[in-house]
Amino acid sequence: MMKGLIFNIQRYSVHDGSGIRTVVFLKGCPLFCPWCSNPESQGAVQHTEWIKNGKTETIGEWKTVEEVVDEVLKDEMFFRTSSGGVTLSGGEALAQYEFARELLKELKLYSIHTAIETTGSTSAYHLKELLPYLDQVLFDLKIMDEKNLKKVLGANLSKVKESFKLAAETEGVELIPRVPLIPDYTANEENLMQIIDFLKKYNINQVHLLPFHQYGSNKYHYLGWEYAMDGIPALSTDEINNIKEIFIAKKIIPIIEGLA
Ligand code: SF4
Repeated sequence: MMKGLIFNIQRYSVHDGSGIRTVVFLKGCPLFCPWCSNPESQGAVQHTEWIKNGKTETIGEWKTVEEVVDEVLKDEMFFRTSSGGVTLSGGEALAQYEFARELLKELKLYSIHTAIETTGSTSAYHLKELLPYLDQVLFDLKIMDEKNLKKVLGANLSKVKESFKLAAETEGVELIPRVPLIPDYTANEENLMQIIDFLKKYNINQVHLLPFHQYGSNKYHYLGWEYAMDGIPALSTDEINNIKEIFIAKKIIPIIEGLA
């Protein structure tokens, strides 16, 4: 029986797709964003250990599709009354695309609204496998300079673009581009203009912006890792407003969403 390695199931989320959602966090991510708020999810699909309050904890639990479905169906009433549903996140949910596909397939049998949060940086084939069972794709665009993207995050821009194109051209799937606003990395005018040019190619006129925060910083401490964003302040209201203006000037509506 197929199992997925899950490191969290979060209920009552309102920032991860439409309505009230239950978010299933899958382990594994090929990227290493310096600002990552789930660093315990990075790397291969395998357990991670950290030391929290003096105790060693193992992150991640193998679960069957049925176990996850039983868990998320507890909130079915909230999904129905809020036009919400289930969102697969990570990590990079595509890192376990076979499990994700089977889980989405099962959720569709219950007519549950489904979404995925992805960077599209594994393979377009992985996303293609999931698209028949997805209603929404929340697609994170980060750094649009190819060399910089490779150097900073370890991602391949052509894979990102290919996956994005696939989602954009799939009928019946709502594509929501999201941009984490990270000081020194993504939240500069040159990068934002590149994102705007890219969105324009697909006639997209709305973007969700996710301002940087330091909420994941203690996890680096538990893992014994250095936190590259230590001491970097959150963007000020003025800075966020200036960024919104960049999008508005190009006729793209910016929506400030949850947090990066
Ligand atoms: S893609 Fe997401 S989970 Fe992966 S390293 Fe970046 S922020 Fe973390």
